[in-house]
Amino acid sequence: MNQTDLKFEINSRKTFAIISHPDAGKTTLTEKLLLFGGAIREAGSVKARRSERHATSDWMDLEQQRGISITSSALQFKYQGYVINILDTPGHQDFSEDTYRTLTAADSAVMLIDAAKGVETQTKKLFHVCRQRGIPIFTFINKFDRNAKDPLDLMDEVEKVLGIESYAMNWPIGMGPDFKGIYDRQTEQVERFMEGSSKSSAKPPVSGALSDPNVQEGIGEVLLNQLKEEIDLLDSAGNTFSQERVDRGEVTPVFFGSALNNFGVPNFLHSFLDLAPAPQPRSTNIGVLDPETPSFSGYIFKIQANMNAQHRDRIAFIRVCSGRYERGMNVIHTRSHRRLRLAQPQQLFAQERTILDQAFAGDIIGVHDSGFLRIGDVLAEKDGLQFEAMPFFSPENFARINIANALKRKQFIKGIQELQEEGAIHVFRDLHVGVEAPIIGVVGQLQFEVLEYRLREEYGVQVDIQHLPYEIVRWVEKDEKLIKLLTESSMSTVVIDKDENYAVLLLDEWKAKWLSDRYEIEFHVQPHVT
Ligand code: GDP
Repeated sequence: MNQTDLKFEINSRKTFAIISHPDAGKTTLTEKLLLFGGAIREAGSVKARRSERHATSDWMDLEQQRGISITSSALQFKYQGYVINILDTPGHQDFSEDTYRTLTAADSAVMLIDAAKGVETQTKKLFHVCRQRGIPIFTFINKFDRNAKDPLDLMDEVEKVLGIESYAMNWPIGMGPDFKGIYDRQTEQVERFMEGSSKSSAKPPVSGALSDPNVQEGIGEVLLNQLKEEIDLLDSAGNTFSQERVDRGEVTPVFFGSALNNFGVPNFLHSFLDLAPAPQPRSTNIGVLDPETPSFSGYIFKIQANMNAQHRDRIAFIRVCSGRYERGMNVIHTRSHRRLRLAQPQQLFAQERTILDQAFAGDIIGVHDSGFLRIGDVLAEKDGLQFEAMPFFSPENFARINIANALKRKQFIKGIQELQEEGAIHVFRDLHVGVEAPIIGVVGQLQFEVLEYRLREEYGVQVDIQHLPYEIVRWVEKDEKLIKLLTESSMSTVVIDKDENYAVLLLDEWKAKWLSDRYEIEFHVQPHVT
């Protein structure tokens, strides 16, 4: 493939994640976006497919019992010349460290907010991960067909709670039963809302200029005056739009609508495709790597274990960072300097797996792994390449793990060790208990279930999980007096991490602050990188 074609392919790609709190409407919005690309024909199919997928795998048992989707990765579809990759970021009970790691594979994020609820906890957490990466964040405020918070208050909430400037791209006219539509500030057109009229179609609803008397009549005098006042206010006192500041993640373009009614979604998608970045350059040990560099490179951001019970295989998901990938290609695995053949790469297309012939920077591919690959590993045509290290995501749930049968100790230690290496759990040992009953730290509760399941299925070990009340871990200096003090405190448990660093488990931020103020302790949010 020549350089012009490669450039064209890469620049037509948009790879993003939708971040939201459960129930804000992420599945619904994803479905509407897929409708545009013709990837699905009917609304409702994304949810329905969830339970049909991988029906042969006993991994599915866990998925089915819980009615959740553990097998997240990416969906790809084409729309108006663009190749769109939506990264799935699990929420609900299936929220885990993978959810955070997936965000490292995105070039931008869409933050979905429920208009009646505003900015919620999980959105906040995910937002901060995106913020740290400095990627552009677009906001879609959903469910305006229901009674909602005041739109100006919502804009204010985004700014105050998240600390990012907001710029309204369009503006809602009324809400709930009086929802008339949205006004586009760029085109000065009004899109009229008609409930249910476009639930499963990709066609944008009828629109007209705000200056059109028919449009004005449809809105009614009261809402029209309110709209004019609010637009004046936004124009005079609101933030100014700047593509550079959007690119740097300093200001978020805000859109209003109703995903369920497919309302405001076309308007949003068109602006998004216009403003969102193509695959971005990545920092490496040899300088900034341009995605258009012809030689292939990528890194593993997620490993999905045990998707097929017969083969006990795992799938490693790779974000392609430069060049072009071809089926059966030979690449170097940087950590081991070994040559690997990437056979049978997979891609999820509207939740169905297909074998992939080629992929470009920005795409996500899944490859089979027999247990050799790890999160953060680099695969590239040239040896020696390293991307920036995966950010550290601090565990927020802790449990002591005991084995039911002491004769299985060896398998238990092996299992815990391997799952730690794979990045599935953080392992600590209690300063006073030792390795017999390790303390496991995870980001989401689901990881405990996965741990229990995998220890049983893959290592033949039954465990007892004793949840601990702690919510945070902080690293401390290895100072005898300090360790004694923290050991004696009823608010904490002193632990040692895999690299022999001392850390302390604490009930919550407030307790951490209290201890730190009272005894002048310096707590670190992550271990020192050695
Ligand atoms: P997720 O948990 O974020 O994936 O949320 P879902 O897409 O499953 O939506 C949660 C609920 O909100 C479902 O009952 C949806 O039908 C509903 N919902 C989604 N979008 C809208 C909307 O625009 N208006 C209304 N009224 N309900 C919506």
